[in-house]
Amino acid sequence: MAIKIFDVVIIGGGQAALSAGYYLRRAGLDFIILDNQATAGGAWNHTWPSLRLFSPALYSSLPGILFSTSKTDVYPHRHEVIAYLERYETRYQLPIYRPHHVKTVLPDTQHNCLKVSDGKYSWLAKTVISATGNWSHPVVPELPGAKAFLGEMCHSAFYKGVEHYRGKNVLVVGGGNSGAQIFAELDEVTTAVWVTREAPQFLPDDVDGRVLFERATARITGQATDQPVGGIGDIVMVPPVKAARDRGVLQAKPMFTHFTPTGVVWQDDTEQAFDAVIWCTGFQPELSHLAALGIQEEDGKVLVQDGQSIKEPRLWLFGYGDWASPGSATLIGAGRSARDNIPKLVDYIRQSYQ
Ligand code: FAD
Repeated sequence: MAIKIFDVVIIGGGQAALSAGYYLRRAGLDFIILDNQATAGGAWNHTWPSLRLFSPALYSSLPGILFSTSKTDVYPHRHEVIAYLERYETRYQLPIYRPHHVKTVLPDTQHNCLKVSDGKYSWLAKTVISATGNWSHPVVPELPGAKAFLGEMCHSAFYKGVEHYRGKNVLVVGGGNSGAQIFAELDEVTTAVWVTREAPQFLPDDVDGRVLFERATARITGQATDQPVGGIGDIVMVPPVKAARDRGVLQAKPMFTHFTPTGVVWQDDTEQAFDAVIWCTGFQPELSHLAALGIQEEDGKVLVQDGQSIKEPRLWLFGYGDWASPGSATLIGAGRSARDNIPKLVDYIRQSYQ
């Protein structure tokens, strides 16, 4: 029986994978997409119910179909993003197979390609695009006494909204957008306290995700001139955060020194009891399926040039963030990096497999 070798196997089925699929289809390559979720939407399926984008819909489109909502002047709701990604998959008939959780990627020397495996099935490919995102690798810092704390702990990746916390004392840890947004909505129904390692950086009211994306891209591509300060991690004043500021409650405390079984001890030695802690402390890229290739650096990341792994050129990384390609963790950035990098992948295949 003839052995099937795909041009490309994409691992992951979020926005980065769909953008790559769009350009691969246009280039006429033979590819499949393997996603470990049951339905479309990638990380958006796991964000909290009230989450809205921090960029207007018209600035959050993937290549091909405009992301427009009924009210384009507001920030779209996460369920609108999921519906958009579903529509996108159907419209371009992307060959997505679910659920397949890829466990390993290994060189196949016999067929001069890479072998992708989920433990039960395997697929051979001339190139592999890893687009597994960050949501499934939440980071929780190790803080003194945390193991002895008897209350609930939850990372923002699993936070399901305010109702569960109504009437409780909640500690929200982390100075980014997740921390600010979750604190802002909890403050309306609970006694919430927000702590951050450093003072949170609030952006001016008129700076949203669209402006940040353009600035980050200009910085990374060396086209920045006199750029005002403002990074992708700085806090965008979305309506609930603005409302908390207008109520006069949007203040963060400096970090506590340690946990006790019932709460925390502040730097002035006073204690405060909490029923629950929500960690808004970020994510790392989910790259465990690449471990067997032995190409990860000490920080777990992979060295890339234009999305292509330097140590294993048959491997490409899409999404993840600026280290993989500028702004690639955003909807608009995922499309732009696929537009820029897929032609290089196509050239690589043509030159390497004539
Ligand atoms: P994902 O969406 O995470 O998709 C990766 C897919 O791969 C997932 O389905 C995952 O389950 C799957 N997968 C993982 N490992 C494997 C495996 N081994 N095998 C098979 N499948 C696997 N972006 C914006 O553009 N605008 C915003 O306003 C915005 N706001 C945000 C607010 C919050 C609170 C958060 C957390 C994120 C926000 N983002 C925003 C970012 C955006 O949600 C993510 O960066 C984006 O979803 C990343 O897309 P991706 O395709 O790279 O990864």
